[in-house]
Amino acid sequence: MAHFICIGGGQAGASLVARLRKDGFDGQITLICAEDVPPYQRPPLSKAYLLGEMALERLFLRPESFYAEQGIDLRLGSRVTAIDREARTVSVGGEVLAYDQLALTTGSTPRRLPAAIGGDLPGVFTVRGLGDVDALEPHVREGARALIVGGGYIGLEAAAVCAKRGVSVTLVEMAERILGRVAAPETSDYFRALHTAHGVDIREGVGLSRLIGDARVTGAALTDGSELDVDFVIVGVGIQPEAELATAAGLTIDNGIAVDLNGRTSDPHIWAAGDCASLPYCGQRIRLESVQNAIDQAEVVAQNMMGGVVDYVPKPWFWSDQYDTKLQIAGLNSGYDRIVTRAGDGSAVSFWYYQGLTLLAVDAMNDPRNYMIGKRLIESGRSPAPKVIADADTDMKALLRA
Ligand SMILES: Cc1cc2nc3c(=O)[nH]c(=O)nc-3n(C[C@H](O)[C@H](O)[C@H](O)COP(=O)(O)OP(=O)(O)OC[C@H]3O[C@@H](n4cnc5c(N)ncnc54)[C@H](O)[C@@H]3O)c2cc1C
Repeated sequence: MAHFICIGGGQAGASLVARLRKDGFDGQITLICAEDVPPYQRPPLSKAYLLGEMALERLFLRPESFYAEQGIDLRLGSRVTAIDREARTVSVGGEVLAYDQLALTTGSTPRRLPAAIGGDLPGVFTVRGLGDVDALEPHVREGARALIVGGGYIGLEAAAVCAKRGVSVTLVEMAERILGRVAAPETSDYFRALHTAHGVDIREGVGLSRLIGDARVTGAALTDGSELDVDFVIVGVGIQPEAELATAAGLTIDNGIAVDLNGRTSDPHIWAAGDCASLPYCGQRIRLESVQNAIDQAEVVAQNMMGGVVDYVPKPWFWSDQYDTKLQIAGLNSGYDRIVTRAGDGSAVSFWYYQGLTLLAVDAMNDPRNYMIGKRLIESGRSPAPKVIADADTDMKALLRA
């Protein structure tokens, strides 16, 4: 009987094994998870779960019983330490398991601050796994003082939760603006104003020089020469693909585990999906760090492990919740040269990214209708003229019929 092994029980791994069974694979499936809980969704970790508004059970993608019912050998608290490509085996907890096909869905790990500047002091947290958030949560208390390092989505979401829970928050972003790596200045301006209105002290163009403290972190020295007293620190300075196993096994690595359109690595028996994989897209190699990518790519890989030849064509979308604002993003904005703003009803607004006359992406704030219209336009390769989008009188729904 064929044995498919999947290393990494996150969003991608859980989707992959479920899809194998759904499509009728009747061989042996083993899902090996380093964490000691069944696969769960991460987005609520920096949103509703940290806020205390979502119970643990609701994080799980499926109840643990699902895996047994589906005949999937779910191994929790087990870390694979080596892959032997010649023997086609993996080593896990003293055991050696043979595979016919192997999938790597090992995700990513947060970048940490160097120990030399206090990055390993107690009271310094990252937000990646359930364990991180359970350790952080007791510190998020009214009157506490938090420093958040990094103004990307994770840092901003954590800032919003802390502010809502009465923490006094300072957020430093070394680049000239928050969200500089991922969004247009218009989106940065929107979120800067939103956080400032909620009392968060956002300092852009300011980095962290070092954290101060002996037994635990008590302060921070910033690159502008100022010093802060802090009770805890959240570090949100990006992630790196978890490619250690793949590197040691000699697979091709290129900003993550390099895969082809089918999700196959440089070894024909090994596949990769999710945050850990870098894929070809429009003539370049990209990595997408999102739930949608993890699910869709994993499902394509599952089909191809069973002998299919399915290409993965990403249809990127993403969301972020901060205070009462829901940001929804469709498309990929890289290469944009123009932003068109469309004001909606009430607090709704959307920013449309164009490259020349081609619509690339949309950021929609509290504007699900225009998000959905933008998403459908992008997915079907249609680009309304920028002036049409900017025109308040345009019937947006009619654009989908054009
Ligand atoms: C706080 C937070 C908020 C987010 N918010 C959003 C959002 O709003 N919208 C969105 O689209 N995306 C969001 N994301 C990103 C999204 O969660 C990830 O892109 C997605 O989880 C990637 O899935 P994955 O399966 O590739 O990796 P993961 O979910 O990271 O799963 C990988 C798993 O592999 C395990 N593993 C690694 N190495 C081994 C090994 N050697 N042996 C066994 N197991 C191993 C890891 O422990 C981990 O459990 C957020 C992420 C975080 C952390």
